[in-house]
Amino acid sequence: DKAIRTGAWSVHYSAELEANYNRRLSITTELKRALATQQDELSMVYQPKIDLRSMKVCSMEALIRWNNSKLGHVAPDEFIAIAEQAGLIEQVTKWVMRQTISDLAYFREQYYDFTIAMNLSTQDIQNKALLNELVAFLTEKGLSPASLQLEITESDLVSDATLAVENLSSLRALGFRFAIDDFGTGYSSLAYLKNLPVESIKIDKSFILALATQDNDQQIVHTILSLASIFDLRVVAEGVEDEESLRILKEWGCDEAQGYFISRPLKREDLEVWLLNSPFKK
Ligand code: C2E
Ligand code: MG
Ligand code: MG
Ligand code: MG
Repeated sequence: DKAIRTGAWSVHYSAELEANYNRRLSITTELKRALATQQDELSMVYQPKIDLRSMKVCSMEALIRWNNSKLGHVAPDEFIAIAEQAGLIEQVTKWVMRQTISDLAYFREQYYDFTIAMNLSTQDIQNKALLNELVAFLTEKGLSPASLQLEITESDLVSDATLAVENLSSLRALGFRFAIDDFGTGYSSLAYLKNLPVESIKIDKSFILALATQDNDQQIVHTILSLASIFDLRVVAEGVEDEESLRILKEWGCDEAQGYFISRPLKREDLEVWLLNSPFKK
């Protein structure tokens, strides 16, 4: 192997590359298998979001979890990106969609009226068949598209802005509502914000985690809030870990908050307990 004979740095480099390649390969193989079998390695957790006016729960974000016998817990930040590249994202999203909508129907039977936010990848919003299936599945469960909010990461939207506007507009016409996720990390332009049919933006947690103590984060959040008011967008802050940050966000007129201070993401059974006991319960 040439790389190995060219010196110490190359040896190190190629070993790292190989480890990386092997990791991706086993994630792909294991995920394929997980999707093809009973799928009990995959599960959904739900993280409450509160309305900062009422300080009561208004929505839940659905987040996927994967526990594999060989790899242990694999974070979605790692395996979702690999699933996108390996052509597996459609199957993952289908699984997420069915589980999340079934759980939402279950909560509606218990008379809870919160909406659920689901994360989609850009490939998903270009997949007409998948979106038709989403609508059909909602209808089957007696739910309307308005009960679901779809979160799309800002950097994904920016990479193909024209297509994004078209796809989102046709989905918007069906009643779906959109949020731009990880806002502030994707370099969106003002013109672009104006053209997107989105209802809300979620300020990336990197600006929120230390909000109570960091002047520059405060300035960024302040700027995002004024920008949002110009475009008449709702603002959600993710990554609220302490009471002081929550207080600041409420005082500054941010609309919703989500984070460990309110609740960690919870399994459905644990969420039911939270909904009965939390100070943020309705
Ligand atoms: P995201 O959509 O921006 O989700 C927010 C992430 O922040 C979640 O990480 C959540 O657990 C975490 N978080 C929430 N509150 C706090 C907090 O107070 N402090 C800290 N440090 N973190 C907090 P998670 O669950 O690991 O998900 C990571 C990313 O993976 C998500 O980011 C989303 O982009 C993606 N993802 C998760 N589930 C799905 C899914 O079902 N489909 C798709 N396409 N992507 C998903
Ligand atoms: Mg999200
Ligand atoms: Mg985010
Ligand atoms: Mg994200």
